[in-house]
Amino acid sequence: MVNGYRPTSLQEALEIKNRVDAVPYAGGTDLMVENRKDVSYLFLNGLEELKQIREEADHISIGPCVTFTQALESDFIHPLMKEAVSRIAAPAIRNTGTFGGNIGNGSAKADSVLILYVCDAKLRLASTEGERIVDIDNFYKGRKKLGLKPEELIVEILVPKKGLDNYYYKKVGGRNALAISRVAFAGLISIKDGRIESLAAVFGAVSDTVLRFKDLEAMITGKTIEEARAVKEKFLAAYEERMILTRGRVSAEYRKTVCMNLLKDFLEEKGI
Ligand SMILES: Cc1cc2nc3c(=O)[nH]c(=O)nc-3n(C[C@H](O)[C@H](O)[C@H](O)COP(=O)(O)OP(=O)(O)OC[C@H]3O[C@@H](n4cnc5c(N)ncnc54)[C@H](O)[C@@H]3O)c2cc1C
Repeated sequence: MVNGYRPTSLQEALEIKNRVDAVPYAGGTDLMVENRKDVSYLFLNGLEELKQIREEADHISIGPCVTFTQALESDFIHPLMKEAVSRIAAPAIRNTGTFGGNIGNGSAKADSVLILYVCDAKLRLASTEGERIVDIDNFYKGRKKLGLKPEELIVEILVPKKGLDNYYYKKVGGRNALAISRVAFAGLISIKDGRIESLAAVFGAVSDTVLRFKDLEAMITGKTIEEARAVKEKFLAAYEERMILTRGRVSAEYRKTVCMNLLKDFLEEKGI
């Protein structure tokens, strides 16, 4: 039998988390695989307040217990996120797996996290002591290492509404369904009056965390397409040098070749 606490409100959940060392449990699709007998769980999946998707002035608010199926059915979730989420596992996992769990699992293969990185999403973390908002890329400290205090829970995911439309997304897996990413890539570009206002490129499943190099992105930001083309080779060479990848089911060399091809394809598709 699984030991656990079943709070009836977020406040109660935070009080329990403050008191005992209980493991947050959302959909359980990652935790079930671990099958630990030595822990107590804090079941969050009964809390309606953590299952909401809301539209706010400048962002979409996603509750951590929102499932992938729920997101696919929502009008508020951007097509880029829907495309990534629709590639997660199979319907049974998408019906139970949640955004909070995808983030909380601390894996660089997490498909929704890749999108949260590329669009500069933020997380709201809460404890009985109060709340704080952190940038997603400051939250991941390494494989399974999160910037989360023992008494804190992820209580909201804030996804910007603007700047997501001109995107590029590819997930390279072993097969079409039920494939954990071997390499995943998402790119975003925003062009206004002929100038590149912003460019973001993120790589998933190839290192301990999702990789994003904002200083290299800055080589393109502010330039016209012509000017960006002129620095393209230098830009690609900088990524080639910076990307130190780990081995997974496939070699680091294979992953690097795929990453560089995806980056080039992204630039070409966007006219650079
Ligand atoms: C067969 C199979 C296929 C899969 N395929 C994919 C795939 O293609 N892509 C992909 O990205 N993932 C995949 N996964 C992994 C998994 O389904 C996802 O990571 C899912 O999002 C986890 O969500 P969950 O609600 O089930 O998390 P849980 O198992 O409940 O929790 C996962 C972790 O997050 C923590 N956590 C949960 N909620 C919170 C919170 N509010 N605050 C703090 N910590 C929290 C938990 O303590 C735990 O450490 C697959 C898993 C299986 C079993």
